[in-house]
Amino acid sequence: MHGQIESKTTDVEQRLRHEIAAVTRLLVSERILGYSGHVSARLPNRDAILIQPIHHSRAEMRPEYLLVCDMDGRMIEGPKGERPPSEIYIHTELYKARADVNAIAHYHHDLTTTFSLVEDVPLRPIKNHAVRWTSGIPIHPDPDHVDTQEQGRALAGTLGLHHALVIRAHGEVVVAETLPALLMDCIHFTENAEALYHASLLGRVAALTADELSRFGQTLKRTKHSIKLWTYYVGRGQTDGLLPKDWGSYLKIKDSRSW
Ligand SMILES: [Zn+2]
Repeated sequence: MHGQIESKTTDVEQRLRHEIAAVTRLLVSERILGYSGHVSARLPNRDAILIQPIHHSRAEMRPEYLLVCDMDGRMIEGPKGERPPSEIYIHTELYKARADVNAIAHYHHDLTTTFSLVEDVPLRPIKNHAVRWTSGIPIHPDPDHVDTQEQGRALAGTLGLHHALVIRAHGEVVVAETLPALLMDCIHFTENAEALYHASLLGRVAALTADELSRFGQTLKRTKHSIKLWTYYVGRGQTDGLLPKDWGSYLKIKDSRSW
């Protein structure tokens, strides 16, 4: 199966397949992604995306399990009998709406989602690495599963030009330009929610000001920082046996300028 897919696909697609499988396993290991949720990537030069099938365990994701789906959410390539997740429209409609987005994660992280259930403590960037979300973190008001194109379009409307949102009482959506940047963003988004939660238990939250965040944003090299996290998490995953050793060449940083 693996050989079959490899012979039909390009190096770029192979790399994306390995990156999605790695990000999925790493987010499971970080307890950000659970038994449901999904990571996807836009396929360059095609009106199509890569995403996992509906029922496979996220903890055991492999490159060859992934499906190629069109922008209407239909599987066009993949193992026989498989089908996309029912919430694939989160991905397809956001890719249609946002040309700058090439990788998306949807997951259900309970502590982060809790902020959509209270009125007094809105989820906002309070830590330096949360500068990515300075423009705001919208709450999508409809808690339903995003099972239709129409619901996906409504979600894209809520996201607007922001980089993450919380679906009320349901879960999170994080968007980025590459899969390594997506891994970084999911980790920092979760760290920020955890910091806000803990700070709000201790007392009045004294978050970084807009000015402080802006200054930090000017010094942060986003690509360089994403490579730092990628190297750390992928390396740790390989040492721990979470990521198979033979994925190594696809997960190695070759040339940061091409990101
Ligand atoms: Zn969901």
